[in-house]
Amino acid sequence: MKISKFGGTSVGTPERIKNVSLLINDGTKRIVVCSAMSQTTNSLFEICDYYSKDNFDGAHTVISNLEKKYVEVINELIETEHFREKAKEIILAEFKEIRNFANKPFSIAVEKSIVARGEILSTNLIQLYHEEQNIPSVLLNALDFMYVDNDSEPILSEIETRLSAILAQYPSTTLFITQGFICINPRNEIDNLKRGGSDYSASLIGAAVQASVVEIWTDIDGVHNNDPRIVQNTKPIAELSFDEAAELAYFGAKILHPSTVLPAKLKNIPVLLKNTINPTGKGTLISNKISGTGIKAIAAKDSVTVIKIKSGRMLLAYGFLRKVFEIFEKYKTPIDVITTSEVAISLTIDKEDYLAQIVDELKVLGAVEVDKNQTIVCIVGNMIAEEKGHALEVMQALDNISVRMISYGGSRHNMSIVIDSNNKEKALRSLHKNLF
Ligand code: ADP
Ligand code: ASP
Ligand code: MG
Repeated sequence: MKISKFGGTSVGTPERIKNVSLLINDGTKRIVVCSAMSQTTNSLFEICDYYSKDNFDGAHTVISNLEKKYVEVINELIETEHFREKAKEIILAEFKEIRNFANKPFSIAVEKSIVARGEILSTNLIQLYHEEQNIPSVLLNALDFMYVDNDSEPILSEIETRLSAILAQYPSTTLFITQGFICINPRNEIDNLKRGGSDYSASLIGAAVQASVVEIWTDIDGVHNNDPRIVQNTKPIAELSFDEAAELAYFGAKILHPSTVLPAKLKNIPVLLKNTINPTGKGTLISNKISGTGIKAIAAKDSVTVIKIKSGRMLLAYGFLRKVFEIFEKYKTPIDVITTSEVAISLTIDKEDYLAQIVDELKVLGAVEVDKNQTIVCIVGNMIAEEKGHALEVMQALDNISVRMISYGGSRHNMSIVIDSNNKEKALRSLHKNLF
């Protein structure tokens, strides 16, 4: 069984959807995981924003425009009147529900239910298109198997059990279509895997069915060695190890949701990134194979907050770090980069939900400083923390930029630098010039 995930741009127009259909109809047994058509999720979040501010006119305008777009998509994608009617019935019912939320109090649960519609719309249209084209396929409802806990963290064993029971009902089906991003939580509410979460869905599904490969089809030839939106002349990387890819995804390479690599690594399933616009291109293969030496790629993660705790008492004390970490644990806030000196510790977080409470509790341990708008620049490559010279190359490239933190040696294939976000573009370009 293969898993093939198609992102927003790959299913972004009727023409693209027809193109996807050509890529998935080769007789291979596969589960196709689809994102919402591009811009749809943004529009759905915009609607939620209006609802949260009781601006119903604002919401109405966005809903009507989006609905109009989907009617146009149906008219272009679907050929026969019978299937067009069927498609419109499904799509208009979803928009009716989105409108009905205006009569209910707004909440996070409402938001999650609304933003889930993008994937529900796209997968229904794609499945109907296949039905019209006489290509047998089964639409799986991700809410029947993509189970998360109360913190919206997927529970793989539960997904495995639920999904295998569903698949057992269709022993002769080769083509399954399902939604990325959306899931169901223990409160039986629709939930999601955060922005860009369809990649993570694909990898979780791949791990659940022990797939032969998880393909991530997107709009670029695989993982590039730097952010192509900022730096010119970036190049695709042919191969990455699970660990290298995990670091890049976690520390900002937008092409992959930060958690995508974990389930695949756990079950040793290769992840292949491919370009829908250039399907014969090599793409990037992420696997357990560790290859090459030297620096392979650079990525940057924004919206990071640095917290510094300075305590006279840390001097010669043990147990200080434990006390600090316990506070972050209590507020379920992951720490990304850490540096310590004898009297102070600096660390970064990107989840600020409990920042005020965390700072209040840290103040008991020492003087606390908070710097927002920081960026983690992550430099990745096999063994770069053991080979001579890489640290120098990196620091030379950052010659004119003040560096807030450096983390080196935590793993053999990663170096992380924390800088002010205003310097990010300059840093990425300068590193690219120096390192590649
Ligand atoms: P999808 O909608 O298919 O999930 P995304 O927009 O989430 O696609 O991710 C693909 C985009 O990620 C590319 O178009 C590219 O602009 C951006 N990107 C950022 N960093 C990288 C990188 N290191 N390599 C490749 N693409 C990157
Ligand atoms: N549609 C969702 C988003 O835009 C999930 C995804 O595309 O992966 O974030
Ligand atoms: Mg994405």
